[in-house]
Amino acid sequence: MHQDVKEILFTEEQIQKRVREMGAQITADYAGKTILLCGILKGAVVFYTDLARQIQVPVKFDFMSCSSYGSSATSSGAVTIRKDMDNDVAGKDILIVEDIIDTGITLSYLVPYLKDRGANSVKLATLLSKPSRRQVDIHVDYNGFEIPDAFVVGYGLDYDSSYRNLPYIGILKEEIYTK
Ligand code: 5GP
Ligand code: MG
Ligand code: MG
Repeated sequence: MHQDVKEILFTEEQIQKRVREMGAQITADYAGKTILLCGILKGAVVFYTDLARQIQVPVKFDFMSCSSYGSSATSSGAVTIRKDMDNDVAGKDILIVEDIIDTGITLSYLVPYLKDRGANSVKLATLLSKPSRRQVDIHVDYNGFEIPDAFVVGYGLDYDSSYRNLPYIGILKEEIYTK
């Protein structure tokens, strides 16, 4: 285990098992369709590549990058799109792939944004969710694991651009982000 990690929440094996289950569910739900898989850079990349290989209907790859400036004092946050999808979204069945849903602010902006551009459907898959932190109501179609209010890293998730390559999800030691 990495020295900055306090506790492992989900091992590589637990994650792979859950990702296989999610892939099977998505395969069943999208039978006969092609999915435009929209990964949210960069945190979702590891989950995205694993999930995509567990989906057995045709899939096209695309990515978006956004930043959200939420304030703890208010329930509103401004979301900026840094990189939009390359594909035309009109008529497509889009599955957004996120690493973690925290306040929900990012997705509460992105889902209507894609629907307004004429997508046939917009659904949401996230590896992790922190329901106790939610500031806006957001419907999650595929949820890997619900976790308590702790700052986690690994399997794509970073702190200060590090730890994304850890193969497990772990809780970061408080001393790392308070110093
Ligand atoms: P929100 O749902 O608050 O709009 O934003 C979710 C984003 O905040 C995630 O995509 C992720 O980048 C970041 N985030 C939220 N909680 C955590 C966490 O526990 N660890 C890490 N590494 N990022 C988090
Ligand atoms: Mg993210
Ligand atoms: Mg981050």
